[in-house]
Amino acid sequence: MRIQFLTQEGCCRVCGRSVEDAKGGFICEECKTRRPHYDAVVSAVRFVDEARELLLKYKSAEGLWLKEDLVDWIEAAARSRYDIASVDVVIPMPITIYHRVDRGYNQCVYLARALAKRIDRRCIENAVARCGHPKRQAGLSEEERIENVKGTFKAHNASQIKGRTVLLVDDVMATGSTLSECAKTLKEAGAWRVWGLTLARSVRE
Ligand SMILES: [Zn+2]
Repeated sequence: MRIQFLTQEGCCRVCGRSVEDAKGGFICEECKTRRPHYDAVVSAVRFVDEARELLLKYKSAEGLWLKEDLVDWIEAAARSRYDIASVDVVIPMPITIYHRVDRGYNQCVYLARALAKRIDRRCIENAVARCGHPKRQAGLSEEERIENVKGTFKAHNASQIKGRTVLLVDDVMATGSTLSECAKTLKEAGAWRVWGLTLARSVRE
């Protein structure tokens, strides 16, 4: 099976995109121009080939048996990038209401819960919720994506995230605009740092 695991070598230390000639501590031009609201993000695998098939299977309820393997992947990615001892809470990225109706469950909650257990941290499942109904992000430009998700998250349980370092878990990341908007909401609610962690990333070539 060809799963392409991602490394952080030669990547921007904020968005994690691979950049030619990047050295340690490098920040890419895009992040310098428009800094995302998350402090960093790391992804385990590229969203291509077999990884893509596996994840799509996992997104349907029949693929739940894959969970432990996928948790292995995100745990390894998180440990390779972050000081896990500094993480206070794990928070799953909420999915939109209509997606939840479609699939019947939120796969990010399963991942976040399992990861939290492994690193012995609390998983706060309802720390942030979706509000509003943004259009699908696919096919939109970067500007349109940022605009489309603006104001679509709402934080709850602010007392539990205030001053904390949050590990925000999502399944697939594209440009990161949704992750950034969610991080913004968490920070407005008082989170100190928001570290993103996604299972897969669709990488622009
Ligand atoms: Zn960057």
